[in-house]
Amino acid sequence: MNIKKLFQQIQNRFKPQPELTDEVVLKFLNVLEQARAEELSCTDMYARLDEFVENEMKGIDPEQITPLLEEHLDICNECCEEYEALLAVVENTKEG
Ligand SMILES: [Zn+2]
Repeated sequence: MNIKKLFQQIQNRFKPQPELTDEVVLKFLNVLEQARAEELSCTDMYARLDEFVENEMKGIDPEQITPLLEEHLDICNECCEEYEALLAVVENTKEG
């Protein structure tokens, strides 16, 4: 799940309810909990970055087999830059 979309969803959900009731807070915590479960840490991402790049080089769509990594790259600038740097290195090495 895209984090930006998620926050928009949360915002939309709460718009008609200006008062912060217990129920609203619980719903909010629930959504956050789900997001956390789906979210990958940067450490996890770094650990699997070479795997991700390898698949990319093999022409395998990363969205199919590592959607979490793909998702993390979408929302994390740091990892995205790291990924692009690694991809550039791998491509240079390949072409000799
Ligand atoms: Zn990251």
